[in-house]
Amino acid sequence: MHDLQSQITNRIEDAREDLVALTIDLVRFPTINPPGEAYAPCAHYIGNRLAKSGFDITYIRGEDTPGDSDQYPRTNVIARREGKTPGPTVHFNSHIDVVIAGEGWSFDPFAGTVQDGRIYGRGTCDMKGGLATSIIAAEAYIRANPDFPGAIEISGTVDEETGGFGGVAYLASKGLFSKPRVDHVIIPEPLNKDRICLGHRGVWWAQIETKGRIAHGSMPFLGDCAVRHMGAVMEAFENDLFPKLAKKRTDMPVVPKGARQSTMNFNSIHGGETDDFDGLPAPNVPDSCKLTIDRRFLIEEDIDEVKAEVIDILEALKSSRDKFDYTIEDIMEVLPIMSERDAPVSNAVAEGIRQVFGKDPQYIISPGTYDQKHISRIGHLHDCIAYGPGILDLAHQPDEFIIIEDMIESAKVMAFALHQLLTMPK
Ligand SMILES: [Zn+2]
Repeated sequence: MHDLQSQITNRIEDAREDLVALTIDLVRFPTINPPGEAYAPCAHYIGNRLAKSGFDITYIRGEDTPGDSDQYPRTNVIARREGKTPGPTVHFNSHIDVVIAGEGWSFDPFAGTVQDGRIYGRGTCDMKGGLATSIIAAEAYIRANPDFPGAIEISGTVDEETGGFGGVAYLASKGLFSKPRVDHVIIPEPLNKDRICLGHRGVWWAQIETKGRIAHGSMPFLGDCAVRHMGAVMEAFENDLFPKLAKKRTDMPVVPKGARQSTMNFNSIHGGETDDFDGLPAPNVPDSCKLTIDRRFLIEEDIDEVKAEVIDILEALKSSRDKFDYTIEDIMEVLPIMSERDAPVSNAVAEGIRQVFGKDPQYIISPGTYDQKHISRIGHLHDCIAYGPGILDLAHQPDEFIIIEDMIESAKVMAFALHQLLTMPK
């Protein structure tokens, strides 16, 4: 093993330039989601790369999943390399989609600029850097130990940022994230190179609509303003809900620590005239206002109670506020998830972290969800964690970057863990 370890280490260190080039190439596919740009070329780039390393490549389109169309096909890639003898399968799953660049960049977000040992660009951290790291780790391992047992899989999947329905959820529904095909899954999300992420908090997204009645804006008393009703909803949330959420603490080791409580974000609000027209708005009293809420909850909370807290506030307004009426629609819900600390994949990565960094890993829970939920719920595969380079706080930010040295170190952890898992009895 010692010999093999130094061989793996050398090969990864020799692959530094390749790792940087691979990350830059991936960043240059502007796989912005929504709508799901450039998925197919990005997936094919990954497939072509891994085919050269002896992987069998399959492309699977998430047919008829949200957003799927001929213009924006949900193209996923799965690469599989069989070992010499039967054994377990270790799968590295990365999402290829990124969020919009947004404002405030000092670099071209889709150029992949290298500066001071970092690569800048949208998706460098979340999570094309992690994907590139897992590819380099697997290739280095295969070259150092060509007669490895079992099988290695690497996937590039779509739509994680919008729920993963055309990506991991679709593949899991086809049995591609279940035993006996797959035994252990590592998701290289950016959770820092020396931490193991066991799971995530829960999510409930819903859209609340307040109703009103259209009238001339010069005589608002003849109508009923839906935006004012929504103002009352938001005020009630400020007074009665946000303080309550801040008091709900969890024993889950969520990072950052600020997320060790229940939280809610107002994702969007729309009411009255839209702003996508030229000229002046017509003087109308808005008859509808829509608020999308993004509620993150804890393993200690029950989803029904989470929903009831919001609905109780809306119902109270209905009885106290003149002409108040509303509807609420679920958009998405995901229950909190937490793998065992001593699951095989977690132990193997922990050992890798000890070997590379000379210290024990920190075990954490992600504040937001990621594709682990589908692997667990649909694939019924629970030996799954997230581990990857990249600084969590940089995800979705302007001037997102990844530190090249972190990727090198993480690649070693991944390759060591890979060897440990492949040589375990199935
Ligand atoms: Zn991500």
